[in-house]
Amino acid sequence: MLFGIILNNEIFVKSSFKIMCEKTIIANSGDIQITQCNHCRMINIWKPGVLLSFSYTQFFEFVNVAKQLNFDKYHEFGPDGNRIVMLSTPFPDLCLKFSRAELYDFIHAMDEAVYMHKVYEIIHS
Ligand SMILES: [Zn+2]
Repeated sequence: MLFGIILNNEIFVKSSFKIMCEKTIIANSGDIQITQCNHCRMINIWKPGVLLSFSYTQFFEFVNVAKQLNFDKYHEFGPDGNRIVMLSTPFPDLCLKFSRAELYDFIHAMDEAVYMHKVYEIIHS
């Protein structure tokens, strides 16, 4: 299976032993980390409490969608009254929410990840 979501550390620990991924950090911004595994050709987005896993193709599609998210145009109000935007994911019923600063970090991390991913592709080809 090429993508799934793991919502807590316990499940992740079990699955990581199974797949033995070699995680290379390709981006780091705010509390977002993005890693890739060259063996399974997967990219993981680590956000507090959430881990999203994508195939390379799915990741690039997700980046394109995320980059169209304009905070000023699409913001709404969360239950705490703060302005947030919601980003749909390829996983049904799962959305990510961001404050303006969090969205900035997220997009910055995605840009960095795309760049570093390409660098590693050149190095390993
Ligand atoms: Zn792996």
